[in-house]
Amino acid sequence: DHALNNADPEVHDIIRKEKERQFKSLELIASENFTSRAVMEAVGSCLTNKYSEGLPGKRYYGGNEHIDELETLCQERALAAFHLDGNKWGVNVQPLSGSPANFEVYTAILKPHDRIMGLDLPHGGHLSHGFMTPKRRVSGTSIYFESMPYRLDDLGLVDYDMLEKTAILFRPKLIIAGASAYPRDFDYPRMRKIADSVGAFLMMDMAHISGLVAASVVGDPFEYCDVVTTTTHKSLRGPRGGMIFFRKEPVLGVDLETAINNAVFPGLQGGPHNHTIGGLAVCLKHAQSPAFKTYQKQVIANCRALAQRLGELGYKLVSGGSDNHLVLVDVRPMGIDGARVEKILDLASITLNKNSVPGDKSALVPGGIRIGSPAMTTRGFKESEFVATAELIHEGVQVALEAKSLASGPKLQDFLKFVASPEFPLQDKLSDLRKRVE
Ligand code: PLP
Repeated sequence: DHALNNADPEVHDIIRKEKERQFKSLELIASENFTSRAVMEAVGSCLTNKYSEGLPGKRYYGGNEHIDELETLCQERALAAFHLDGNKWGVNVQPLSGSPANFEVYTAILKPHDRIMGLDLPHGGHLSHGFMTPKRRVSGTSIYFESMPYRLDDLGLVDYDMLEKTAILFRPKLIIAGASAYPRDFDYPRMRKIADSVGAFLMMDMAHISGLVAASVVGDPFEYCDVVTTTTHKSLRGPRGGMIFFRKEPVLGVDLETAINNAVFPGLQGGPHNHTIGGLAVCLKHAQSPAFKTYQKQVIANCRALAQRLGELGYKLVSGGSDNHLVLVDVRPMGIDGARVEKILDLASITLNKNSVPGDKSALVPGGIRIGSPAMTTRGFKESEFVATAELIHEGVQVALEAKSLASGPKLQDFLKFVASPEFPLQDKLSDLRKRVE
């Protein structure tokens, strides 16, 4: 018997435990989702066996007639899902994930050490937008390119005035819109104007919000950007992967189609993951359905309900609220930090992540938490369940505060040791909360 449970009981059991964890907990990580059974079936299929370096009709291996059909279908569906005219836009569906997709764009349109500007990571940007610290060039995108981030203002909104002033001095070749933890829409017209004024490309990394973009419930980056990248596994609810959309007309003298396709293969990748492309095609068919639009509207409605209830409970939201699928909560005014809250909620089967907020001093003990609505909306949650979720989070924060006051010392380590000890006095409170969550 070749079934997994017989062939490898160890791995089978780990998968079983992870499945149980995923379905028991309140999954509130803004970048995660539950993909469909149909997508999983395609991802777990024989498509994984095939090599197909190159593009449809131009492969370096034989036996690709069905893979060609699949990748072409996936490309067509990608353009249709984002309402794009195939004469004006093209897409590459081979990027292995979001970070490679971004690096492939930079490789296509920049020379080594050209300048880029993206939203700083502690302000909500992603590593692959040029992240570096004063001490270290952390991301490859800051090792091979010169990065000067833009940031948020005191209210937690992108500081476009500062972006404009810095761009005039720094003269970037590429400006990157998009974020991993930004609850508002980007001002694409403004960013286009800034990019044009300094002769830069404008790229949007819509990884977090691509499902919302497909459903037209947030602003449309395609109207203003030259290139749009995305992951496929977040709000879009597909398999883990990436896509790059590009304008077909040359931009700043660059033939984006040729440059990007060459940067993906042979520039930075080898054979495409055809099982992922199969799953993505399935996801992109669903993304054109009325049900998908209803889902994305609910994602936003749920996030608003969550934001409102948290506000009523006294929480300070970065930027004052949310236009999309996530809220960023500054828990410092409550007398606690994101790391302690994340730990206690984890023990109560509420999964979310600590996140830096404007004004933070430490990345390891940041002052905020990020909460997203896509995954639990897929599980069927409506507004009332998200109101209840806000209340459960609030209960967890109270436990975290009490634990902090009882811990032996002020350091995070003291807190973690205290919480993990068998004598932790709030065990009953925690397990009561966990039971109600599960
Ligand atoms: N871009 C953004 C805005 C993201 O939030 C992420 C992941 O969280 C990525 C890119 C990277 O995607 P991946 O983790 O698939 O490399």
